[in-house]
Amino acid sequence: MSDALPSGSTIGILGGGQLGRMLSAAASRLGFRTHIYEPSADCPASHVAHRTTTAAYDDADALAAFAQSVDVVTYEFENVPTGALDLIEAQAPIRPNRRALAISQDRLAEKQFLQGLGLATAPFAQVDTLDDLQTALNSIGAPAILKTRRFGYDGKGQVRLNTNNEPATALATLEGAPAILEGFVDFSLEASVIAARGLDGAVSAYDPGENVHEGGILRTTAVPARLTAAQRNDAVLLAGKVLNALDYTGVIGVELFVTPRGLIVNEFAPRVHNSGHWTQNGCTVDQFEQHIRAITGWPLGDGARHSDVRMENLIGDDIVRVPDLAAEPATALHLYGKADTRPGRKMGHVNRVLGPVR
Ligand code: AMP
Repeated sequence: MSDALPSGSTIGILGGGQLGRMLSAAASRLGFRTHIYEPSADCPASHVAHRTTTAAYDDADALAAFAQSVDVVTYEFENVPTGALDLIEAQAPIRPNRRALAISQDRLAEKQFLQGLGLATAPFAQVDTLDDLQTALNSIGAPAILKTRRFGYDGKGQVRLNTNNEPATALATLEGAPAILEGFVDFSLEASVIAARGLDGAVSAYDPGENVHEGGILRTTAVPARLTAAQRNDAVLLAGKVLNALDYTGVIGVELFVTPRGLIVNEFAPRVHNSGHWTQNGCTVDQFEQHIRAITGWPLGDGARHSDVRMENLIGDDIVRVPDLAAEPATALHLYGKADTRPGRKMGHVNRVLGPVR
């Protein structure tokens, strides 16, 4: 641990949502302080962090003061503006590195990167104009999904294209944003691997989880996933390949489609991931602590799974179920402290511990 940041150092976190909140809690368990940078007031992470700066991502003075006050900077969302990173980078290391972030910000760059590693992706084509879309549809076929290259999350910025809908109408809904067309993958299930790479290059992966999405939003993750031993192995190996190729430091979430022909990579998130929340109650060291360990140069912790877990997101009005959930046996509640409930808003999650790993 010679290059490691000592306990007591300050970790800067860009973004103050639930991921920043859970990262802060994990950091404080190891004696670190966290400083959150977030434009909106009273953010979930501010309730548990040592310090919060409430400022916009183009506020150069606030960014400089933030960067000066921390020993390392990480982020809890992909869409951090490049200008903010330019200012921060002059003062403090950013982990995971900017290349990982830049690739994940652009679905086209991400798909090209994954293909370059020899990993399978859905067929895809760049779409800037209606002509591009017609050409892409001719080669990829329908059904397909048109997605904005940037700023999409939880299924936003996406339109399905079937044989009977009008390409021009679909393209118009993206309001001129650069896009890609992806072939529709006929998957038997969705899975994800949460993996980490330390500052020393050591890699550790959690057991892959099985994900169910509803309306583009993650609903549940279950471990063990219904995967063969070979699929499990492939999933972990491909996550390691991505981590090494990016010379990555921190936790990554890699989303996969499982098909009879093998695993297809959907996308990766260069951060802790919703589908890794089960690790809080299924592993000795969860994804949040693992990320903190990685970015501070500590040795990676033991991510072996000791329990079978089913994580369920509490979305919007699900929050009214909290009294019942709080009374359930073997169920851990994780609430994010959000004052306003809105449809589609992630308010918390529960981890149901189903029993020890057999
Ligand atoms: P994404 O924003 O790319 O993570 O997409 C959100 C969800 O939409 C995924 O988890 C899938 O359930 C579905 N989806 C996205 N892309 C595809 C695809 N090419 N084929 C089939 N389903 C997809």
